[in-house]
Amino acid sequence: MRFDVLTIFPEMFAPILGESIIGRAQQKGIIEINTIDIRDFTKNKHRKVDDYPYGGGSGLVMMAQPIYDAYMSILNSVDTKPWVIYMSPQGNTFNQKAAERLKMHNHIVILCGHYEGVDERVLEEIVDEEISIGDFVVTGGEVPAMLLIDCVSRLIPGVLSGESSYVNESHYNGILEYPQYTRPYEFNGRKVPEILLSGHHANIEKWRYQQSLKRTYEKRPDLFEKLELSDSDKALLEEALREESK
Ligand code: SAM
Repeated sequence: MRFDVLTIFPEMFAPILGESIIGRAQQKGIIEINTIDIRDFTKNKHRKVDDYPYGGGSGLVMMAQPIYDAYMSILNSVDTKPWVIYMSPQGNTFNQKAAERLKMHNHIVILCGHYEGVDERVLEEIVDEEISIGDFVVTGGEVPAMLLIDCVSRLIPGVLSGESSYVNESHYNGILEYPQYTRPYEFNGRKVPEILLSGHHANIEKWRYQQSLKRTYEKRPDLFEKLELSDSDKALLEEALREESK
């Protein structure tokens, strides 16, 4: 899968996405992340890429022309039109479902805004979808873009050790993941739940699912409300809550 990022801060990406799992996925050639410096496409002799907003007001707005030309340099070099995302606080909020949908694209271009944002006309020309990382405003689209690339990339086959690495994780099935433990067996007087030492896989699976239900119920009632629980799920949850209140 290929990501091309249109940004005025290309050097921000390698230190984060060049490390760890995403870094290794790039080395293996499973994913490709390119940064395109919008400044390289400005026709302004001072390499300016922004200007004052028409109508007045504070801050600067990124100009349409350098962004458009940067995007066209990508488009002219490929056979199939990529999917174009503008990272924006006005977009649909990003979540695991959106990541699942986006992993179906072979080639994604991500536009990162800065300052007060981007001239609306270039958004109208090139953008397929606006995506927000939440109902708050950050300085630029670079951190949101890295977050999206990280989240989508780990769903690409070969990036993690196997599909099982993410299908049990929080949000994959609308529920939160069960609690995890590693060595030592006892830490500050707290012991690992005995069931995890039993070696009985079916019971361990059942306990983990029960804990997932309980966590979702306790930590994220908004997610819990959306679950369609079977009678046996409800019984499992009630059992877990009873155990806790003992
Ligand atoms: N003036 C804009 C508004 O009120 O909608 C906000 C501009 S923001 C300071 C600068 C850039 O940061 C945006 O163009 C966008 O690319 C990025 N950005 C800010 N908040 C974001 C969010 N929640 N999700 C995704 N991108 C965001």
